[in-house]
Amino acid sequence: MIYHSTRSRDVRASGREAVLEGLAADGGLFVTDALVEGAELPQSVRIDPASLAGGDYKATARRVLGALLDDFTAEEIAGAVEGAYSGTFSSPLVTPVTALGELRMLELWHGPTAAFKDVALRMLPQLMSRALAGTDRRLMIATATSGDTGKAALEGFRDVPGIGISVFYPEGGVSAVQELQMATQEGANVSVLAVKGDFDAAQSAVKRLFATPEVKAGLAGLGVTLTSANSINIGRLVPQIVYYFDAWRQLLEAGEIGPDEKVDFTVPTGNFGDVLAGWCARRMGLPVGRLIVASNANDVLTRFLSTGVYDRRRTLEKTISPSMDILVSSNLERCLFWMDGGDAERSAARMRELAEKGFYRIPEALLARLQAEFGYGMADDDVTRASIREAWEKEGRLIDPHTAVARRVALENLTPGRKMIVLSTASPYKFCAAVYEALYGRDEALFADPFAVMDALCRRTGVEPPAPLAGLRGKAVRWRETGEVAAIPEFVLRAARERLGA
Ligand SMILES: *Cc1c(COP(=O)(O)O)cnc(C)c1O
Repeated sequence: MIYHSTRSRDVRASGREAVLEGLAADGGLFVTDALVEGAELPQSVRIDPASLAGGDYKATARRVLGALLDDFTAEEIAGAVEGAYSGTFSSPLVTPVTALGELRMLELWHGPTAAFKDVALRMLPQLMSRALAGTDRRLMIATATSGDTGKAALEGFRDVPGIGISVFYPEGGVSAVQELQMATQEGANVSVLAVKGDFDAAQSAVKRLFATPEVKAGLAGLGVTLTSANSINIGRLVPQIVYYFDAWRQLLEAGEIGPDEKVDFTVPTGNFGDVLAGWCARRMGLPVGRLIVASNANDVLTRFLSTGVYDRRRTLEKTISPSMDILVSSNLERCLFWMDGGDAERSAARMRELAEKGFYRIPEALLARLQAEFGYGMADDDVTRASIREAWEKEGRLIDPHTAVARRVALENLTPGRKMIVLSTASPYKFCAAVYEALYGRDEALFADPFAVMDALCRRTGVEPPAPLAGLRGKAVRWRETGEVAAIPEFVLRAARERLGA
């Protein structure tokens, strides 16, 4: 299967190359024409969902990965799946489906860092190291994070041979638990810098690294190529398709749905990565009814889906669901490519408009097709807190703010007689201060110490925190360095020299 850029069919790569490069050379995202809507779906990409019955998460993963990354051998895929999901998730189901009142909840946070990013970031290093094997190439990963990606990437890539990783997070811009998770990161090949600036500043600085000749030359001198672990990498999108199929399989095996029965999904999203994976699952044959896009107060995506105008000319609001605080939703570019006939020129033109004017408008006919497939809704912080309270008081479930956004939007978008699955993207303990406040009000003295909040939430609810978060308490802080955004290039070069070896 050939991948090419969303902006040009001439910028091509194999699946292995696309995983190693992350972003296409022209700034576009790697896509395959196999998923273009309206075109015939190749048999090799179709998955008969009923055939998954009797299997398990790993079997589902082998099917999905094998279909879309077909230049990896079956042995490589099987090895990658074992490496990613053996002994790393605390649930034997990896991503279990449980009840949330009348809804179902797909729990994606039983991995080592307690957020859904683990599902893909356990797999990406497995794919990258297999793609590197037999070459003399080495990789340096630079990643900006608003909190969850950074920790999951550090944990996923720690001590992977031939790969180094630097993570940049905005100083004061992540939750106390998230900061501790990164500050205590172990591993010989990792490095972390808190930058003075917001996430957008860190993200732009990291993107600029790819276009900075001195950085490229400096790394090339060490025999190292720069790449990214952000959700633009096709190696992150593909592993996320797996849990849609597997959630459906779990409902089928539980007798909750019949063999061809459609289910709906509601997804709390910012970068459109997670919900796009659901769209891919449907294209590949999963009986999905509607995909509901749930936004917080930064509702760029829901406005786009209601008006057809994508407009980033507004200021970012800080919310209690910070992992969705984003104005430029990278993966939407892929979705529009696939839904707009696979037209790379139109795709490139939209992205040029966005860069130059700050907005673009899609034609009515395309908007109508999007609205037929995607529902949408928004929950601001007050509504999110109310959703956390209702889930706890009426349904006996403790949920994190991102899940709470999706829960509320899901309840507004139910189709009678159809099961609705909410994607639960983080453990409530990752955002324990916001959860505690929603249930019991603010307590400034308590909030000064993240472990005191964890303890108090556990005492009052009886719900235990995940072991990796509780275990942060005894860990030594390894990373205290802070720096200007302008220091990022030198930091990456130094990290490559010192941590990747010559
Ligand atoms: C990253 C993240 C999201 C949003 O994921 P997208 O890829 O933007 O769809 C939602 N919730 C949590 C907890 C996250 O970490």
